[in-house]
Amino acid sequence: MVKKLKGMRDILPNSIKMWQFVEEKARETFEKYGINEIRLPIIEKSELFLRGVGEETDIVQKEMYVFKDKSDRDVALRPELTAGVVRAYIENGMESMSSPLKLYYIGNAYRYENVQKGRDREFSQIGIEFFGSSSYETDVEVILAGINFFKNLNITDFTLKINSIGSTESRKNYIEKLKNYVEPNLNEYCKDCQTRFEKNALRLLDCKQEKCKKLNENAPKITDYLDTESREDFENLKKALTDLEIRYEIDTNLVRGLDYYNKTVFEFVSNKYNIALGGGGRYDKLVSSLGGKETPAVGFGIGELRLIELCISEQENQEFEEKLDLFIANIGENTKIEAIKLAEKLRSKGFKVETDLMNRSLKSQLKYADKKNARYSTTIGENELLSKKIQIKNMENGDIKQVDIDKIENEIC
Ligand code: AMP
Repeated sequence: MVKKLKGMRDILPNSIKMWQFVEEKARETFEKYGINEIRLPIIEKSELFLRGVGEETDIVQKEMYVFKDKSDRDVALRPELTAGVVRAYIENGMESMSSPLKLYYIGNAYRYENVQKGRDREFSQIGIEFFGSSSYETDVEVILAGINFFKNLNITDFTLKINSIGSTESRKNYIEKLKNYVEPNLNEYCKDCQTRFEKNALRLLDCKQEKCKKLNENAPKITDYLDTESREDFENLKKALTDLEIRYEIDTNLVRGLDYYNKTVFEFVSNKYNIALGGGGRYDKLVSSLGGKETPAVGFGIGELRLIELCISEQENQEFEEKLDLFIANIGENTKIEAIKLAEKLRSKGFKVETDLMNRSLKSQLKYADKKNARYSTTIGENELLSKKIQIKNMENGDIKQVDIDKIENEIC
């Protein structure tokens, strides 16, 4: 048989409820902030990500699914969704809409990664992007939307980490200081960091290898090199979070993996697994660098898989249990269609109802009802059709009641 590719995922009916639950909560939460959904292509020109995510990032260098289409175009499966949202924002003239323009997305992304728990090659990201406002209050609202999303999922065991990476200019100055600090010991750093030193030195700071972390312990801190505006915004952000009683940690090594960020960056980190559930930040230069007008923007992306594998699956499973309101069993050829008719009538009133489609014996039909967690069951035979009366069994406590066939819904609601 042909098997699926490594790192791809079949989401089967027994876990789909959790995915639907998370997506529902995302929609519910974000719509309260006036954020509207956007859906975008999974495949884009590779150039979008080279320019949008950054040529020197691990994502573009090592992880992107790139190929030629039949017209010899270089195309890529999106490795993240922000670059696509920005492209759509510019291409569809959304720049002229009133600001801030607030968008959210739920969609798959693809990265050729080492597969492990919480890390697949196909994964879904849930994110929001606000365009057109440079105020720190916008950063606050974006962070709040993320926190409330977690709250609505009953996820509390995480830490909000924040940092500011300043403007392009102040960062340049800082990177020079950082390189001066690293250079004397460069050959003690891991291979990746040695490459980063040349190409993307800021990322030396978020290397996960212990020896590199240790070497970085006394590295200069980016927050000591911020330009005035970034420093003020960062101070205001911290004050606002404190006022709103949102707990946070400052992590001056938090620089995020993508090139496009400036000023505020943040991550939501699972305390138990010490892994990022999501993260984001401000990216004031991305719209213009992809051909749009200068437009400040801020957003985040959260990994749906990590929420589900690491957080939701630990919650009470009851919420995700499939329940049927009624199973209608039948005895005798003539009753089959009557059972379907009755099921249709009740479905149109909002009940979840099933009937036998397998020509099973009555005993097996009722066994199936049990397996499907039916709250009630009933059996239609010739007698019931004639008398228009039916027995309803409460499957939880075994109680049986005789009711008019037309009034079933009063019993099962
Ligand atoms: P990033 O775009 O790398 O900042 O990722 C944002 C979030 O997407 C992360 O915090 C993860 O929750 C999720 N994510 C990123 N890569 C993967 C992956 N390979 N598998 C599952 N989730 C991922």
